[in-house]
Amino acid sequence: MKLFRFGEPGKEKPGVVLEDGIRIDASGACRDFDEEFFQSGGVGKLRAWANDHADSAPQCPEGVRLGPPVANPSKIVCVGMNYAAHAKEFANRATPSEPVLFLKAPSALCGPDDDLVRPEDALKLDYEVELAIVIGSAAKNVSAEDAAEHIAGYTMINDVSERAWQKEREGQWTKGKSADGFAPLGPFLVTSEELEEVNALPLWLDVNGEPRQRGNTSDMVFEPLFLVSYISRFMTLKAGDIIATGTPSGVAMGMDPPAWLEPGDRIEMGIDGIGCSTRKVI
Ligand code: MG
Repeated sequence: MKLFRFGEPGKEKPGVVLEDGIRIDASGACRDFDEEFFQSGGVGKLRAWANDHADSAPQCPEGVRLGPPVANPSKIVCVGMNYAAHAKEFANRATPSEPVLFLKAPSALCGPDDDLVRPEDALKLDYEVELAIVIGSAAKNVSAEDAAEHIAGYTMINDVSERAWQKEREGQWTKGKSADGFAPLGPFLVTSEELEEVNALPLWLDVNGEPRQRGNTSDMVFEPLFLVSYISRFMTLKAGDIIATGTPSGVAMGMDPPAWLEPGDRIEMGIDGIGCSTRKVI
């Protein structure tokens, strides 16, 4: 099952993509795809509702804006340098011996195709296409064997970064990762049972039609189930939380000279089985 949210920013409604590709308004089934929805078994109830209401529910308007497929996550946890070639281009180092974690402000969340507004003093704007895990129920000290039970599904995130703020200022990476619009999510949350090969998904990103990132989730150093287990030892993952699993190589800062994002640029990206997005830098 594929979940999405549609409508004006802050006023999105929940929706479901049916097997024939038709998108229906799921407001009749639930209020929103938020912590309460996931924690209370909302995905299973929604599946049953969609089976019963496929023909009677209103269809989602053509061309409507898509929002992030999850509402108000308590946190966005990001994994750094989880692909060997990216660790080399980013920091000229081997892969870390255990996952590198940092947080991205949830206020950075936006729809997958929303314009990326370059902050006024941002000079080194960069992109990172990533597989994102959506937590389905609270997880604390879970084993990798049990982690799957705590995952609602997967989606796509662009871990947008301002490299000068991330690397040339004092302190941690968070300030280079958290501006408004730095976390476009979606288009769809694909539930776990529909995405069998999560460890072998091609992911890609182009800027103005030029191929920049070409990767595969099979190249991750630490795979999704391990990441959920690992992170849950350090913090409680709540239902609806997002984990950005790291990016393959090909980011702007790895180019010579770096090709930072500029107003007018068009970013297109996708993950097989999840979907594609296009956004413009303004
Ligand atoms: Mg990243």
